[in-house]
Amino acid sequence: MNAVLVSSSYLIALGSNRRHHIYGRPRDVVRAAMEELAVLGTVTARSRIITTDPIGPAQRRFSNAALVITSEYDPLSLLAGLKHIESEFGRRTGQRWGDRVLDLDIVLWSGGAFASRTLTIPHREFRLRDFVLKPAQMVAPGWRDPVTGLSIRQLSARI
Ligand code: ATP
Ligand code: CA
Ligand code: CA
Repeated sequence: MNAVLVSSSYLIALGSNRRHHIYGRPRDVVRAAMEELAVLGTVTARSRIITTDPIGPAQRRFSNAALVITSEYDPLSLLAGLKHIESEFGRRTGQRWGDRVLDLDIVLWSGGAFASRTLTIPHREFRLRDFVLKPAQMVAPGWRDPVTGLSIRQLSARI
């Protein structure tokens, strides 16, 4: 009998507010990262790329997007893959919420909630962030937050 490979779906949020020396503007960085994420699984839905104002210490406007990926990676392996791509895109570890060439966050996982020292799913802040919910609504409007039971569409409408 063949081994059964279990695959999960993840909702990933992308953001950039710095130019990349090859890819160019933040919007082009996000577009290139959306292509690159295919190394971690099968991308089944992609949002448009939107422009949003910075929060916290960041100085420049962000380009944001979201996508759904089906992957055989478990949550911690997927996070390692995302961090690898961030560093390939030249991200240096720096200030949380600071200017960055690429940020890749796991928002939701088909397995529900996950918590460890380095990873919390659902993403802790996503319910309050229009720049996450707006693109997320383009790709997974009916996906329910396992904590509140509300769909992305409902969470979006509350902001
Ligand atoms: P925020 O998490 O508020 O969006 P940020 O994206 O700027 O802020 P980072 O500096 O990119 O924060 O990440 C800090 C750490 O957060 C990461 O190294 C990672 O271990 C951890 N982390 C916890 N939960 C998640 C998640 N759901 N997705 C991505 N990283 C997470
Ligand atoms: Ca983030
Ligand atoms: Ca992050």
